[in-house]
Amino acid sequence: MKLPYAEPFKIKMVEQITRSTKEQRLQWIKDAKYNLFNLKSSQVFVDLLTDSGTGAMSDKQWSEMMIGDESYAGATSYYKMKNAIKNILGFEYFLPTHQGRAAENVLFSALIKEGDIVPGNSHFDTTKGHIEFRKAKAVDCTIDEAFDTSIEHPFKGNLDLVKLENILKKYPKEQIPLIIVTVTCNSSGGQPVSMQNLKDVKQLAEKYEIPVFYDSARFAENAYFIKIREEAYKNKTIKEIVAEMFSYADGMTMSSKKDAIVNMGGFIALRSEKLFKEASVYNIMFEGFITYGGMSGRDMNALAQGLDEATEFYYLESRIEQVALLGKRCVEYGIPVQHPFGGHAIFIDAKKVLPQLAKEEYIAQTLAIELYIEGGIRGVEIGTILADRDPETRENRYPALELVRLAIPRRTYTNNHIEYVAAAMKNVFDRRNEITKGVKILYEAPIMRHFTVELEKI
Ligand SMILES: *Cc1c(COP(=O)(O)O)cnc(C)c1O
Repeated sequence: MKLPYAEPFKIKMVEQITRSTKEQRLQWIKDAKYNLFNLKSSQVFVDLLTDSGTGAMSDKQWSEMMIGDESYAGATSYYKMKNAIKNILGFEYFLPTHQGRAAENVLFSALIKEGDIVPGNSHFDTTKGHIEFRKAKAVDCTIDEAFDTSIEHPFKGNLDLVKLENILKKYPKEQIPLIIVTVTCNSSGGQPVSMQNLKDVKQLAEKYEIPVFYDSARFAENAYFIKIREEAYKNKTIKEIVAEMFSYADGMTMSSKKDAIVNMGGFIALRSEKLFKEASVYNIMFEGFITYGGMSGRDMNALAQGLDEATEFYYLESRIEQVALLGKRCVEYGIPVQHPFGGHAIFIDAKKVLPQLAKEEYIAQTLAIELYIEGGIRGVEIGTILADRDPETRENRYPALELVRLAIPRRTYTNNHIEYVAAAMKNVFDRRNEITKGVKILYEAPIMRHFTVELEKI
């Protein structure tokens, strides 16, 4: 018998979580204006809002916390992080930031100006926000297969090279400061980009003399998929694959709250000393001095250790297999989910669950609310609310997909929690025909409205 996967760790400390009744949850979600971000975490039983900063650190990371160097300048913790970035990712220069969007803010301050075009594969919302905030435009060049949840394609995060080249041809290079490749592609469902595609994008970018940056929050999960799905890489280690991936990039931004398995932190890594110096000015202005940039020494230590742990095969196998377990259960119960399963989350195709709702009724948000009421499970809408309004016309942007994302925190929940979530989702699915009305917006912010939106039931 082939031995199954098992977590390459055991549990040393536990945190109590509490169950609630349906009556309590009906009241709490109403009080939260039907925005799951407004719930208290104590009102949630299984929290799948995000895998960002919600992972469990290892004993080694916690011991690194104890020996963090809190010197303002030149701390040993800074050098630990610098070495990890050099050894694992291959970049000479780096700037610590307090999280991923701060890295975007600093890097884009140095690179992007009004009127610029930034092609990529389904830019993440904060990335797009920082581009549009500068009156530049993010152009999505993801392959079409990504937008059909039923198609099995091993690398739905891939960029369409024809779409990309059309953009590179259409605009002068002065107007395209960078191409952003998101690994794995969060907005298209945690879908990976193949090594071949990374190579091809780099080649095309070189032809048009445009730098390539990776939005790298889940680079290790991407590397795992390359190993499992791309024949030429099946005998390579994750660290070898990671090193090759980044060899095709000029730089990267990182939300370390994902694949570095820390609760807070981020960074920019670069090859160009010139750009490093330019970005340093903004880092000092927005984040902090260049040897801490919004992070404490202890956090930099934990991050360096986390990069090493997250690029080990058995960790990634247990991580991705746990996510897949949720996907498999949903399939067994007939619930439509995105295929193939993503690296960090399962995405439920809300339009297929609730075809009776109009797109103006925020279909995925409605489903996310129902799942909370059913089992105290907090997922998140990846749909019209997240997509925001068009910055020019101010009209709602209706994305091709209305998804409820169930993101699994790293090393945090057991497979029993996964079974519980799947069962609650099945109950919602079984009563889907009784859900005849969605929600409408009472208040929204002009940008990134999903965090603070206030809703009511129609
Ligand atoms: C989370 C994330 C970001 C933003 O990072 P924060 O740490 O949340 O600021 C950017 N890009 C991607 C792909 C992400 O997943």
